[in-house]
Amino acid sequence: MKGKEMQARFVMDGLHELINLCGDNAQRDGLEETPFRVLKAFLEYTEGYREKPAEHLRKTFDVDHNELVIVKDIEFNSLCEHHFAPFYGRVHIGYIPSDKVTGLSKFGRMVDGYAKRFQVQERLTTQIANAINDELDAQGVMVVVEAAHMCMCGRGIKKATATTTTSAVRGEFEDSAQLRNEFLSLIK
Ligand SMILES: [Zn+2]
Repeated sequence: MKGKEMQARFVMDGLHELINLCGDNAQRDGLEETPFRVLKAFLEYTEGYREKPAEHLRKTFDVDHNELVIVKDIEFNSLCEHHFAPFYGRVHIGYIPSDKVTGLSKFGRMVDGYAKRFQVQERLTTQIANAINDELDAQGVMVVVEAAHMCMCGRGIKKATATTTTSAVRGEFEDSAQLRNEFLSLIK
């Protein structure tokens, strides 16, 4: 067996054992194919490792617009790296272009590229802000991420309605409370 096939076999054997350890029978009908399905699903959840998300932003247009641009309600799904439990929600992006802007759909692809990894919400927020800051040479960037975490909801403190909000600011947003407030009022 080749390296990748061997790894896949180990993973499926491990999942088989996990099912048994949890108290079920990994060989019964409904569970027999589960290790294979879980492996396949995980490769999909982590597609972002096999691309460079920031590069989606490289297709730019020159425009003479130096005012705030807002892209809000970009949906994402991710996996918390501590429990492999889903967390999901919305990303809101505000930036002030220098002279380059990018198509709205590119932001969605970039967000997906970072979300489809083992993540924590704080790092996801930072990576999105850095990608926009670096690729678009923006004069300022602000990113707000709102998410619900299944690992907070389903175990431990069990707060089903809790959401976590994180933000990151770069450039002009760092110095201007007025700009931050304008962005926050526009994404409400
Ligand atoms: Zn977690």
